[in-house]
Formats: sequence, structure tokens, C-alpha cells
Amino acid sequence: MDISNPHPALPSAATPSLLPTGASTVGLSAWADIDLSAISDNVAELSRRAGDAEVMAVIKGDAYGHGLVPVAGAALAGGATHLAVAQLTEALAARAAGVTAPILTWLFAPGADLAAAIRADLTLSAGAPWALAEIAAAARETGMTARIHLKVDTGLGRGGAWREDLAGMFVDAARLQAEDVIDVEGIFSHFAYADSPDHPTVRAQQETFVAMVADAERAGLRPRLRHLSNSAATLTNPSAHFDMVRPGVAIYGLSPVPDIGGPAHFGLREAMRVTARLIAVKDCPAGQGISYAHLYTTPEATRLGLVPLGYADGIPRHASNVGPMQVHGRGYTVAGRVCMDQMVLDLGADSPAQAGDEVVLIGREADGEPTAQDWATAIDTINYEIVTRLGPRVPRRYLEGS
Ligand SMILES: *Cc1c(COP(=O)(O)O)cnc(C)c1O
Repeated sequence: MDISNPHPALPSAATPSLLPTGASTVGLSAWADIDLSAISDNVAELSRRAGDAEVMAVIKGDAYGHGLVPVAGAALAGGATHLAVAQLTEALAARAAGVTAPILTWLFAPGADLAAAIRADLTLSAGAPWALAEIAAAARETGMTARIHLKVDTGLGRGGAWREDLAGMFVDAARLQAEDVIDVEGIFSHFAYADSPDHPTVRAQQETFVAMVADAERAGLRPRLRHLSNSAATLTNPSAHFDMVRPGVAIYGLSPVPDIGGPAHFGLREAMRVTARLIAVKDCPAGQGISYAHLYTTPEATRLGLVPLGYADGIPRHASNVGPMQVHGRGYTVAGRVCMDQMVLDLGADSPAQAGDEVVLIGREADGEPTAQDWATAIDTINYEIVTRLGPRVPRRYLEGS
């Protein structure tokens, strides 16, 4: 596997550098270790829970910050039969890097180069009449059959067509399929409240989905892959598995339903570990204001540690004073403001820490380390956002796996 440039379609400066297994971290300010065997094992666990349903591993957003191409390989090694991304550009980047598995993409704008997508053997989502028309035109241009999944809105109120608009789309799709312009391989939808499995919309969306599939069949379509379940539904709602499940966050070992249980509860383990090095440690008197606007003041004489990560790296500025970290097994929260490139820890007067020592930002729940979920809880967001926003200045180092 060539991991030198995961997104040849994009400028390489916009993507993290990828370090091979065993690369030295000496001299690095920070890095993220990505355990590819955890990803393979998580996919295998999700596949086991999905029973007869296939697994489509969602690797959008640079695989939730874990690295598109290495994660694609690990997910396939774990038994995923399909991959999915949001943007067409992500799908093209995966193809350009040599990923040959089926890839579904569901975000592209009118006028996008769908002929290139069809030539790249991508599976295109059609969630509106204009998309179906542009896919058909592109297929005719290439002389190839476009593989599509119809996207239906069963109540999320986001992408996909409402039931009223589907009638016409189903008729058009059946006609285009009869002409071999398209192959309607799948039909799919997305839940609004999968992370609250008892929410009434879950059952309602599922019933609407079944009704829409029946409409499609009445129009003469026979989609082989009906899929509705994200990670939360894959883990909590077997009745929604249909022919394929579409988990994202869980393949990275993060719980989509932290109120129900953490990764270990679902047989998953975290794939990402984020470590920084203190780049300075210095004595500081009591009563010193720390970082911009002095949001923190040292209560007593102490030692300060400087962590070379900030919001340019995806550390949320809202984590000022609350973001959790660990040094020498001791837990801390950010002292004062998270800046663009740095933040400070109040290490305590007795800390043995020195410049160069490691700071754990994201580790493993099972080891009592701070986790992406802890950061999310601290700033009232979701673990997805914490890992996905980890920026390109943080190199990714790959451990074990495919
Ligand atoms: C992101 C996404 C998924 C994966 O969701 P998770 O909650 O991460 O499992 C599945 N389907 C669609 C349409 C998505 O946008």
C-alpha cells in the first residue's frame, strides 16, 4: 500500500503526513498513532453483530481523521464489502490511491464531473431528480452503466428525496435501468435519532423506508442493497440492518451512544491515540495569569508545561480550561485559553515533567486515559467532531494491520 500521499487530488500540504509503523517520534511536537488492527477488528465485530447484512464502512472526512487510504485497507481486511464517503472528491482520491472496492459517494454539486466518477467505477447516490438526470447524462457520455443508490428521506429532513418526489424518480430510474444507462443497486436512508434508539422517529423512519422500498419495487426496481443503519442503529437496532449496515464512528472504536456504553461495552477499541511532547517546562509563581486573557491564574507556585497544539490542529478553543490531558499518569485540564498553536498545563510544583515528555490527549478509556469522548463531554459536542477535526499538522503514524 502506498501511503505517501492519501489524496493525490488535493495539495499534499492540506493533508497530514503519514508515518510508517515503527517510525521514530523523536523530534515530533505531536502525532497520532492509528491502530489499523483495531479498525479491522472493529469492522469484524460490527459485521458479526450485523449478521447476514454486509458492512459498508464509512470513511468520509479523511476517515474521521484517521486517514482515508490506510483505513480503507483496514476496513476491507476486517470484512467490509463496501466503502462510503461523503464527497465525490474523497471517492476519487481513494480510487487514485489504488482502492478498488465498491465506494458510494453521496455529495456532489450540479455540474460535477460525474463521467469521471463513472469511469472510476464509483457508486453514485441519487437523492434528487437533477442528480438522476445528470448521472444518466454522464453515463450516456461514457457509454457505461452508472451504478447508483437511490437516497430517500424517511424523516431526517436532510439529503434524499421525499416520498412525493420519489414516484417520478422511480419511474425514470426504471426506464433508465431498462436502457442499461443505470443500475439501481441500492436504496438507502439515514436516521435522525439513531443514538436514541427508543425515540419514536426511529420506528417511523424504518416503516417509511419499507414503504418506499415497496414503491420502488412496484415501479419495477429491485435494489439488492437496502441500507439504513449508521453505527448507532447497527449496535442497537438489529431490525434495521436490512441488506447492509453503514457504520462510521464505531469502526474507529468510538461509541455512537456513550450514554448506553463506551467502546468496550460494544466490543470495540479506540483506534486513535494522540500524543504531544511538552516543548517547555518552567517554574511559575502563584497568582500568575496564564495564556490570552488570563482565564486561569496559578493558585500557588507551580511548574507550567507548554503543549504545542492548538486550534489550528483541531483542539477546540472551547476546550480552554476544560480539555483533559495526562502527563506521567496524572490528569490535568488545559490551563487558560487554547491558542492557535499552543496551550498550557499547570503541572503542579512537584511534577517531574521535563521538556520532551509525552502528553496524552486522546488515549484509551480502558487505561484510564483521556478519550475523545472526554474531550467531547468537556465541550458539549460528540466524539466524532473531536477526532475528525484533528488537523493536518499532526502526522499520523500507523501501527500493525493490513
Ligand atoms: C456519516 C454517515 C454515516 C455514518 O454515521 P456514524 O454515525 O458515524 O455511524 C452513515 N450514513 C450517512 C448518510 C452518513 O452521512
